[in-house]
Amino acid sequence: MIGYRIRQARLAAGLTLAALGEKVGLTHTAIQKYEKELLTPPSSQLLKLARACGIRVEYFFRTHQVELIEPEFRKLSTFGKTAQEALKIKVVDLVEKRVELLGFFPESPIFRFESPTGLLESIQTLDQIEEFADQVRDAWKLGLDPIGDLTDTLETLGLLVIVVDEDNPAFSGLQATARTADGRTYPVVAVSSHWPGDRQRFTLAHELGHLLLEGRLDNEINEEKACNRFAGAFLAPKAAVIQCLGPLRRALEWQELLAAKHEFGLSMGGWLQRAKQCGVISESIHVGLYKRFSVNGWRKNEPGEAVPREQSRLFEQLVYRALSEKYITESKAAELLGIPMMQFHKERQLESMDAVAHQ
Ligand SMILES: [Zn+2]
Repeated sequence: MIGYRIRQARLAAGLTLAALGEKVGLTHTAIQKYEKELLTPPSSQLLKLARACGIRVEYFFRTHQVELIEPEFRKLSTFGKTAQEALKIKVVDLVEKRVELLGFFPESPIFRFESPTGLLESIQTLDQIEEFADQVRDAWKLGLDPIGDLTDTLETLGLLVIVVDEDNPAFSGLQATARTADGRTYPVVAVSSHWPGDRQRFTLAHELGHLLLEGRLDNEINEEKACNRFAGAFLAPKAAVIQCLGPLRRALEWQELLAAKHEFGLSMGGWLQRAKQCGVISESIHVGLYKRFSVNGWRKNEPGEAVPREQSRLFEQLVYRALSEKYITESKAAELLGIPMMQFHKERQLESMDAVAHQ
């Protein structure tokens, strides 16, 4: 078991046998023997290995095993096989912590993820996705307002949202099913922690589209396009777009798009698309605006302040809930949050916040 874990940690850190060996002062064959469990590393060595891989030593001993089934990447082709494997390991590590935490509760504190009932069963055109997205929002009682915390909204609905530290810009997102050793399954979506909030949100909504649209799309429809359309319609529903920009426009000001971007957490480029999709501007006006948008270099970097990154608070909240109900100990809580015991103790008493308030 421990050998497998060492290998996982090494791959997640993107290290070769030799590179890890060098970091901890061992040969690559010694590392290989650990991984094949021909040798058992002493605890001092385990500590070094953990440090070299950028993880906590508990990782080697965690018993909960999670497997990712049918992972689907949203990425550029430059995000190759090795990078994908390393990313999967990081995601599994984070999923395992959540599954472990959920396991401490006598009754699950989150819903079991389900596709709402009564959604359009078969979709023949991309335009029908507008109605479909409205149905999803209705079923989840999200109204027409912007979704402030997409991550927390989805997590409460039973989706495991993983914001993973991946700085390779070729990676956008991942959707998979996590299966635990005892046969429980959870849908998982992962996004990079390095992207601005609007891009993370679009990716999350796109991945949600894959989950919900599965089995409903006509063969003629490109699934990726359908999921993009869903993402836009879910983040900014047609009625809200029309309310925000007006029903029929001959032009749009950049400032309008920028304001809408911050209100709904959907990029300016995304809003330009939505304006066309919802019939606010004609195809030809869209072409003209999009040309200027591209010439300004905004397809790569949009102007103005970035949308704040998505943050999941649910995991931390549940750690404290479990602690308060005495389902877990303080040291377990610190371990799950990945912070030293001393620091955790201070945070639990809100001491660090006092210090800030008194300054
Ligand atoms: Zn996709």
